[in-house]
Amino acid sequence: MEIIVSDTIGFCSGVRKAISGAEKALKDNGKIYCLGDIIHNKGVVNRLKSKGMIFVNHIDEIPKGSSFIIRSHGLPFDTIENVKKKVDKIYDFTCPKVKKSHKLVESLKNYRRPIIIVGNREHPEVKAIYSLTEHRGIIIEKPEEVRKKLNTDECYVLVQTTFKPVLFYEIVKEIVSITKKATIYNTLCEETTKRQQEVKELAKEVDLVIVVGGKHSSNTKTLFSIASGIVKSVHIENADELTKDLLKGINKVGIVSGASTPNEDIDKVIEKIHNFKE
Ligand code: SF4
Repeated sequence: MEIIVSDTIGFCSGVRKAISGAEKALKDNGKIYCLGDIIHNKGVVNRLKSKGMIFVNHIDEIPKGSSFIIRSHGLPFDTIENVKKKVDKIYDFTCPKVKKSHKLVESLKNYRRPIIIVGNREHPEVKAIYSLTEHRGIIIEKPEEVRKKLNTDECYVLVQTTFKPVLFYEIVKEIVSITKKATIYNTLCEETTKRQQEVKELAKEVDLVIVVGGKHSSNTKTLFSIASGIVKSVHIENADELTKDLLKGINKVGIVSGASTPNEDIDKVIEKIHNFKE
């Protein structure tokens, strides 16, 4: 069986920076709090837990005087303000590309035009950006929502970094068709877009695409949706989920990964496929 691994694999630059920064901060502090998962990958989260990171779901669970990290997706600004009142030290590992969107919103929010955020409303990055619009932004996930939610001639538009480009362009088309003055900022992450282009090409070449990444990872789910629209595909979190049955009748397999999947998870998947062959 031939195995083709996508060119862009493993952690993206933002996640790499957040994880190495978190590991260094743990060495310096011994114990650090994080609100929500630092990235959408169970294995990495468990590794950080074993080194002293404490993941909490609510700000009340963070003790006074502790150290805290802001994950790569960022956090709503009001949450950060509340965290500041409790903790002694904050490490901000918000991805610089996400930060760019924050700065953009900061520069636009005093204008009269509404700010449209194209993205998944439950995604932490979108929640953080929405908070910066002082909760006046309009979140749009699908083209059919545009006419229902937009009743203005002018607007600014930006997009969740890991959103599906094709869907973004469809939404933009719809916005442009009903407004007189729409300023569009393409804030898609080029690393994510590259992975999506690569999976599209790879899926045309192979009999099966294995997408490795967290089940809650938005960019991983998008890779799976692109691949599965072209060829038989499977989304696994790690090598443990790979079974021999999945590879029955497959001559060529392609492997891609989400932006929060470490290289060792991909290596383990490859090793397991090789072991099946023996
Ligand atoms: Fe940053 Fe892109 Fe990685 Fe998101 S996917 S953390 S925007 S580099």
